[in-house]
Amino acid sequence: MREAGRITARALRLVGEAVVPGVTTAELNRIAEETIRSAGAIPAFKGYHGFPGTICSSINDQVVHGIPGATVLRDGDIISVDVGAIVDGYYGDSAMTFAVGEIGQAARSLMEATRHALEAGIAECVPGRRLYDISHAVQAVAEGAGFSVVREYVGHGIGRSMHEDPQLPNFGAAGQGPTLASGMVFAIEPMVNAGGAAVRSLDDGWTVVTEDGSLSVHFEHTVAVTDDGPFVLTLE
Ligand code: MG
Ligand code: MG
Repeated sequence: MREAGRITARALRLVGEAVVPGVTTAELNRIAEETIRSAGAIPAFKGYHGFPGTICSSINDQVVHGIPGATVLRDGDIISVDVGAIVDGYYGDSAMTFAVGEIGQAARSLMEATRHALEAGIAECVPGRRLYDISHAVQAVAEGAGFSVVREYVGHGIGRSMHEDPQLPNFGAAGQGPTLASGMVFAIEPMVNAGGAAVRSLDDGWTVVTEDGSLSVHFEHTVAVTDDGPFVLTLE
């Protein structure tokens, strides 16, 4: 899983470096797929329930599961990129929101809060804590900054499949849920909206957008619970 995480992180970094005004999401998808395959790994998303891309590319009010294609990024957009890789049957899963050129203060604040929410969740990945301690930590940071967390899409266990039990909501009561033990691995992935929490799906059957059209940001890491504390697997 460490190797899958490393390749996932590299793909995300190289995609991020290519995020500039004028680039298409298809080109970002190509970079991710080439990075993953040239490392001898398999794109985890491509073909998953029929998803056509190696990345999910979700722009502005798009929350998750945007399909890469002919869409051209414009100065001032934000784009959430979600990507996964499989190595020897083990999965890595990570997401990050990038600024396209110069973005506004509102978008910057939302990105910063979501990143902090993820970090707060990661910090709870310690043996003896409870699963919803992670959820609560994420929610407290996101809502404390004045934003809302998406309810319909959640984090998850991960290992030999991309989505394993248990589900890991980005909201919940501290001190509740299964007790964390060394060796458990979770994909923690706050999806945070500038406006309300409500989302809806577009007619393409994949793309999820905010109901009120407000911006949405998505950060995700694959994280192991270890006796030495949280171990983020999706880093280079
Ligand atoms: Mg993901
Ligand atoms: Mg995930």
